Amino acid sequence: MTVISIDKDICTGCQECTKVCPAYAIEGNPHEPQTIVEERCVMCGQCVQKCKSYISIIDHGAALYAEKRAARGLPEVVKEPLFAAHNVSHINEVLNALADPSKVTMVQSAPAVRVAIAEEFGMPLGTLSPGKLAAALRKVGFKKVYDTDFSADLTIMEEGTELVQRVTKGGTLPMFTSCCPAWVRYLENNRPHLTKHLSTCKSPQQMLGPVFKTFGAKINNTDPQSIFSVSIMPCTCKEFECSRPEMNSSGMRDVDVVLTTRELGYLIKHFNIDWAKLQEEEFDMPLGDYTGAGVIFGVTGGVMEAAIRTGYTLVTGKELGEKDVDIMPVRGTDGFRRAAIKVGDLTLKVGIVTNLKNIDPVLDQLENGALDCHFVEVMTCPQGCVSGGGQPKLFNEAEYADAWKNRRKATFDCDKNLPKRKSHENPSIKKIYDEFLKEPCGHESHHLLHTHYKGSEGGH
Ligand code: SF4
Ligand code: SF4
Repeated sequence: MTVISIDKDICTGCQECTKVCPAYAIEGNPHEPQTIVEERCVMCGQCVQKCKSYISIIDHGAALYAEKRAARGLPEVVKEPLFAAHNVSHINEVLNALADPSKVTMVQSAPAVRVAIAEEFGMPLGTLSPGKLAAALRKVGFKKVYDTDFSADLTIMEEGTELVQRVTKGGTLPMFTSCCPAWVRYLENNRPHLTKHLSTCKSPQQMLGPVFKTFGAKINNTDPQSIFSVSIMPCTCKEFECSRPEMNSSGMRDVDVVLTTRELGYLIKHFNIDWAKLQEEEFDMPLGDYTGAGVIFGVTGGVMEAAIRTGYTLVTGKELGEKDVDIMPVRGTDGFRRAAIKVGDLTLKVGIVTNLKNIDPVLDQLENGALDCHFVEVMTCPQGCVSGGGQPKLFNEAEYADAWKNRRKATFDCDKNLPKRKSHENPSIKKIYDEFLKEPCGHESHHLLHTHYKGSEGGH
């Protein structure tokens, strides 16, 4: 499937995209149109963020513009420049589902969306707006407005348990995070013999998808076949992830369509919703309930920090005190960071990789037996999902540093201000285990929330 494409009519061959591509997937001569080698592309969308060559209605005329816009699957409300490097949109499928009375539309939106979507409406970079996001999704017409932050908490319950089991029972270490689909694809493409190091946990998006069509159907008294499941993501690779053949644990496709943060902006404009006038609303319960640990999944180091907050309790049976919840040694933006964290009698050695361009030396260390870590977080985008390929595109390149800094700050502010900051304290997480999943890494969880990878069929 084509997720990311370069329009040869628009590409000038400046090769700016080639410089940011972490998968060496863009080929072509300078000053000539470039081509993406689909087998190598990890669909991260960093080329989409970088490309500055465009057509516009003013410069190229309405007819050509309309033709290009339609080819990308974009609605008529889109009037902004269309860039050479772009992702193919599925917004029309969402519009059709919203207009179909037989569909029960359920939506989830990732942690990094709420710190960036307001930028599409002229608000300052990194404005935090979960309440307006929930209100806008409801006004657009989604019947249930749930939240990926909930399933980020669920991921921590599963991944934390898996890590403790691997450490105490002698499983494959180090364990790598698996919530970034571009990273997973990179490893599968380039070093499939190492995929046994990936956590078997699906990403938060792909955990909530099958939950919508099983538990979600039950609590809403709905036929699972009528549910149309939509994800709003900061990431262009999520559309690829949801189309993987393994992602049908509910007995059907778990997530039907993914829209990026940018495309959500188009959707809100299509319905003529005035962002400035939106009153804040809450996400629907229980699958919209979240803690600060779920929120920080959107920044580099956040999954690690969330896992440590819960892992500490799993290992010691005690709670981290309020002043110890901020795990400062794992924060930062350096490409590869290391830390050693005391967890009871265990010294947990961790690593954090951000920007996939930094991964190969770490994988070389692993192959040489020199990577002394229990757990490694990997995110493809420069500072984690806040800087994802599907986030608002900034026309002025110099603004990116501020955007990433402000979105990170908004994420940590959101975490700090929430009453609960550890995944295992989320009452709705307790409810879904009590009523449905029973226990982390149990039978039902393995069926719905875990997966396997190319090269890892032999188990862990
Ligand atoms: S989407 Fe990412 S991996 Fe694919 S060509 Fe663009 S930058 Fe490279
Ligand atoms: S896709 Fe955009 S950034 Fe890449 S070479 Fe073409 S014009 Fe330049």
